Amino acid sequence: MDVVLMRGDGIGPEITSVTRKVLDALDRSFSLGLEFSNEDVGFTSLEKHGATITPELIERVRKADLAILGPVDTAHYPPADQGGINPSAALRINLDLYANVRPSKVFEGLPSAVANMDLVIVRENTEGFYADRTMYAGTGEVMPTPDLALATRKVTRKGSCRVAAYAARLAAKRRGHLTIVHKANVLKLSDGLFLSEAEKAAAKQGGLEVREEHVDAMASLLVRTPEAFDVIVTTNMFGDILSNEAAELAGGLGLSGSLNVGDENAIAQASHGSAPDIAGKNIANPVSLLLSTALLLEWKGAKAGRNDLQQAANRLDLVIAEMLKNPKTRTTDLGGTLSCSDFGSILVEKL
Ligand code: NAD
Repeated sequence: MDVVLMRGDGIGPEITSVTRKVLDALDRSFSLGLEFSNEDVGFTSLEKHGATITPELIERVRKADLAILGPVDTAHYPPADQGGINPSAALRINLDLYANVRPSKVFEGLPSAVANMDLVIVRENTEGFYADRTMYAGTGEVMPTPDLALATRKVTRKGSCRVAAYAARLAAKRRGHLTIVHKANVLKLSDGLFLSEAEKAAAKQGGLEVREEHVDAMASLLVRTPEAFDVIVTTNMFGDILSNEAAELAGGLGLSGSLNVGDENAIAQASHGSAPDIAGKNIANPVSLLLSTALLLEWKGAKAGRNDLQQAANRLDLVIAEMLKNPKTRTTDLGGTLSCSDFGSILVEKL
């Protein structure tokens, strides 16, 4: 099984190094037959190849069995014509990874801002307000005069329908509850289209309890009654913001897994960024990328009918939860004392 590991920028090399060791341990325990290749992405790729991601790498990932992407420091990249391409966006668009699946749950024994939360935010990943995802040529942002900037938001019937269908299938496998989040009271056409497609997808799935909320109300409800939600489906930027809020409420940004999924490919990617403020200090929490990797193993296991991959994913989830429960096996962002690499070493021993 061919695994492509892209280390990324900032804390990327530290957390992907732990992820590699953890996968090696799972490979030994479950005889998964993993074969790794490290590929450059981000600043290392810019130096070597003149671009933060190359078309060859995108094709390499398309053919891989499993792909893991470390966080990328897009805010500090040069303009696109100087090679600064957003690797996440390039992979999501080219591989048509239309759903970004972001679970957030409270871990037993770990302090969190809310008592009870176990939900998944499914965020549309290929369109919305993101300037690099709206146009065939050029970007979705224009500046007609020095004092006027305009941004275009793209919502398509197809994009809305397929992400909502994914969320509805997921809700049916979980607690059967789907919340559609939008702002159709103001964005009547674009969010109106998203809402009507999401309602249709939910009805087609059948057997779901369906609720809809405006995004501003949803931001409050996540704090007030997080236990009331199971699967939440929404457009790109709303999902990006709400999933960070949910992650913080559940215990911290370093704890939320994230999977980019399409019909053929998936990429594990932490939901946080490259954290330049703590890069190179060996204090990053690797849990987000590890939980993302568990989501990837589970996805591949279901797709390929491989029980061993699903068992490996369950084992990884279980041991991480066990470590987070014990204050002595937590990283410093959670009030513990472990470095990123020490957390990885203990996890490997336990696996
Ligand atoms: P960030 O998520 O990198 O950091 C926000 C805060 O959370 C920082 O204080 C950081 O130290 C902390 N943090 C993040 N991950 C952590 C971890 N694993 N362990 C402990 N603490 C952690 O967000 P930012 O500072 O807004 O962005 C930094 C760069 O990352 C920017 O270039 C941004 O564009 C990029 N970014 C990339 C992704 C991605 O690759 N998927 C996502 C978001 C932001």
